[in-house]
Amino acid sequence: MAETKMVHAPLVTYVSMLSLLTLCPPFVILLWYTMVHADGSISQTWDYLRQHGVQGFINIWPKPTAIAWKIIACYAAFEAALQLLLPGKRVEGPISPAGNRPVYKANGLAAYAVTLITYLSVWWFGIFNPAIVYDHLGEIFSALIFGSFIFCIFLYIKGHVAPSSTDSGSSGNIIIDFYWGMELYPRIGKNFDIKVFTNCRFGMMSWAVLAVTYCIKQYEANGSVADSILVNTTLMLVYVTKFFWWEAGYWNTMDIAHDRAGFYICWGCLVWVPSVYTSPGMYLVNHPVNLGIQLALYILVAGILCIYINYDCDRQRQEFRRTNGKCLVWGKAPSKIVASYTTTSGETKTSLLLTSGWWGLSRHFHYVPEILAAFFWTVPALFNHFLPYFYVLFLTILLFDRAKRDDDRCRSKYGKYWKSYCEKVPFRILPGIY
Ligand code: NDP
Repeated sequence: MAETKMVHAPLVTYVSMLSLLTLCPPFVILLWYTMVHADGSISQTWDYLRQHGVQGFINIWPKPTAIAWKIIACYAAFEAALQLLLPGKRVEGPISPAGNRPVYKANGLAAYAVTLITYLSVWWFGIFNPAIVYDHLGEIFSALIFGSFIFCIFLYIKGHVAPSSTDSGSSGNIIIDFYWGMELYPRIGKNFDIKVFTNCRFGMMSWAVLAVTYCIKQYEANGSVADSILVNTTLMLVYVTKFFWWEAGYWNTMDIAHDRAGFYICWGCLVWVPSVYTSPGMYLVNHPVNLGIQLALYILVAGILCIYINYDCDRQRQEFRRTNGKCLVWGKAPSKIVASYTTTSGETKTSLLLTSGWWGLSRHFHYVPEILAAFFWTVPALFNHFLPYFYVLFLTILLFDRAKRDDDRCRSKYGKYWKSYCEKVPFRILPGIY
């Protein structure tokens, strides 16, 4: 097996792995506890911990129960079956660093529609009440924390003994292999893509399913739903719908085309997305604020506009690449840089870099509407507590770091061509500022 180039310094890996292992799981549990049992108030949780110490923390950590495992197993099996069985167009992913071209089945939107219709139907017909999911949320997160860790051990072993393609390899360091992953496109059999499952069909899908769950829970508890949670759920659903509408485009992004299947990305998608990404909705269940129709509509329209702009940025880049630059960008022929680069197998290839439209405003302008959209689906919580805004803060840090990571990667891939892109489009994210 070919040795892979070490993308991250060992120290970075050790520090981030240690913090992911030691800080993130307790954080997920504390976030859930604060949202569900402590009125969303950090100071209330802090007082509790001060009074009861470590034992108090152990007491609030829910054990993964049989019902939690059952819910996760049914959901995972259902999503895996949809991924395998639903029809979809054959889509080719981008050429990998080893020169392979992975093939996917684009059935994400169908899986999304079937999932939501099934979930609402089982509730409507009294077969299963989604409020049960909310009532066992802590146990579910606890089970996900442990289950995902075991799943990542499976990925590590598979990477060693049965890699699916030549886009796989060891860095020679067990911790780095486990943490950053070994395989770029791990599969079970020929067709079941593991990263599509963890990132899209489990992680992103759980976001929509839990958003709906929170709404239903409020309805079951109060007999009505406040406009605040309606705005929050609608915006999150619009966002996730956009994601599945564009899922084949996602297969061209860093998460799929560059990040290997390891603890970092898989644990994040299996645990962090269902817990942290959905947390503003989790808060709103017990805080049925009524915004009034006018304010609710303003927030809704602003959020939808941001989601649309974010979508249009991604669409513009992909349309530009798909047509080899022969498309219109904001009504004009696009301006571009023809950049050549060398693959790991030594072949020379060319890529086009768009330097007009959204991609001429800044090099990662698409992150601005992404962050603003998250702000708009959180703001129905108003400003009594900080915790609902944690996701917005986290996303801002994540995307600023990601823009830097992506810039570094593109600089080493495209060299002087990336330098001329930076000269032409000098700002990284915020036009005129940063
Ligand atoms: P992308 O991977 O879509 O875009 C970056 C890549 O595009 C670069 O690696 C490069 O790849 C190529 N590229 C860069 N500049 C240009 C250009 N000027 N013209 C053409 N191609 C270019 O970015 P992300 O994966 O970060 O984002 C995709 C979407 O996911 C966005 O909507 C983002 O907001 C969202 N997102 C959401 C997150 C969340 O947690 N909510 C986290 C991360 C992203 P190449 O090697 O092909 O040249």
